[in-house]
Amino acid sequence: MCGIIGLVGRRGYHVNQLLYDGLTVLQHRGQDAAGIMTENNKKFHLRKSNGLVKDVFYKKHMTNLLGSSGIGHVRYPTAGSSSVAEAQPFYVNYPFGISLAHNGNLTNADEVHKLLTNVHRRHVNTTSDSELLLNLLAMELHSRTLNLDINGEIHVDVKTIFSSVHELNNQITGGYACVSLISGFGLLAFRDPNGIRPLVFGSREIDGEKEWIVASESVAIHALGFDVERDVLPGEAIFITSDGKIFTKICADETNHSPCIFEHVYFSRPDSIIDGISVYQARLNQGQRLAERILEEFPEHDIDCVIPVPDSGRYAALQLANTLDVEYREGFVKNRYIGRTFIMPGQAMRMKSVRRKLNAIPHEFNGKNVLLVDDSIVRGTTSEQIVEMAREVGANKVYFASAAPPVRYQNVYGIDMPAVKEFIANGKNIDEICQTIGADKLFYQTLEDLIEVTSIKGQQSWDTSCFNGKYVTGDVTDEYLISLELARNDDAKINNDKPGVTIELHNDE
Ligand code: 5GP
Ligand code: MG
Repeated sequence: MCGIIGLVGRRGYHVNQLLYDGLTVLQHRGQDAAGIMTENNKKFHLRKSNGLVKDVFYKKHMTNLLGSSGIGHVRYPTAGSSSVAEAQPFYVNYPFGISLAHNGNLTNADEVHKLLTNVHRRHVNTTSDSELLLNLLAMELHSRTLNLDINGEIHVDVKTIFSSVHELNNQITGGYACVSLISGFGLLAFRDPNGIRPLVFGSREIDGEKEWIVASESVAIHALGFDVERDVLPGEAIFITSDGKIFTKICADETNHSPCIFEHVYFSRPDSIIDGISVYQARLNQGQRLAERILEEFPEHDIDCVIPVPDSGRYAALQLANTLDVEYREGFVKNRYIGRTFIMPGQAMRMKSVRRKLNAIPHEFNGKNVLLVDDSIVRGTTSEQIVEMAREVGANKVYFASAAPPVRYQNVYGIDMPAVKEFIANGKNIDEICQTIGADKLFYQTLEDLIEVTSIKGQQSWDTSCFNGKYVTGDVTDEYLISLELARNDDAKINNDKPGVTIELHNDE
């Protein structure tokens, strides 16, 4: 998963600080790399590198990032490797100079790659599907603007841009939300026809002049002092000219809004509103429904307290405790200075870092029957370790609840869940999973319940593929899933993540 942001500010003012601040607000969407591209008088300025936003941009970079429009990206690798060459935004010089940042994953990247290299003879330098997307967009714009030069002046109109996006949408499949700078013209943003990945835009007025922002989550818009206009619609493109005029159009033959439900389980910040749904409210609802099910299944329960797995388990746990009418207690302290465990390649590394990340407060466990609540169980690393920790500090019984159903299928739309055999639920029923994590009882939300309580605004369709293997784009074949698994499983990641340095060489040092 990634986070993206785009800004068109007033002429003469620089948007570098706003982009930086926005990326820090979107940091939870990706910690692997960060990048900003700005445009000033038809010159692009770029800084991107591996690392957190605060570690990528120094003062010297910021002072170079001049311009009143720009885009930014925080990366969490889902396709390709995590080498710095694949950090975003990407850039092509032809036509006009275009730069692009993308959140999501294309499911027909191989096909697009063949088309670009064999038919259009474009050079694609990385394994990132975002570079493919940018090149295809460039190709579409190029083929439509060949004859548009008037008196030697390069000109591209909004109609041409929208028809290029329309043709792009006809040629790519998957989940994608993008922001793109077209040099000399403005900022383009678009969302795939299923609206799988979120994208929202906003504005503000200063001294009678409009400024515009597009971002993965509404929280970035609010944090920067803008007002949300609305979500970008599935299949919609919006174009904001460098002087602040906005145009919007649905650029798809067919749209079927099916947003990723996992955004509401785990990925988004709780203070965001996506497609009109408060992520916080969705998580409270998930906790409440799960509690109702626990009461049905375990009416004479002996749970003394509910303890969340911080941080993402807190919201569901809070409402779950209220509904069960048992105490909500904080039993684990999280070290906020440590990276995420999930994306660390290799199971051994993940196990170690759960212990470093979370520590139990014995007082909350001693002699008690505790119900631990997390938003989801993926590989089971967190739950297994945390159940053990609870027992070590004297818990009597340890129950576990997951606000999401078992994750059993690969995610192909931009969440890093590529290898089925790494999921704890793979090939196991709930009792077997419970045994593996060592809990006394395990409660999972059902998919029907998750959908019902998250559809606060009557959402009709969701991407729930990691829970039921149904892929809304309809093009995902077994062959594709196998190739994804091979490219992105733990072993592959460990090799990918050391570009240019073999592990043996590293060990010899
Ligand atoms: P597990 O330890 O079972 O592999 O993963 C579950 C834990 O990781 C949960 O605490 C959940 O909050 C978190 N998690 C779930 N999905 C993702 C993801 O896509 N990326 C990251 N970084 N963490 C995740
Ligand atoms: Mg968590």
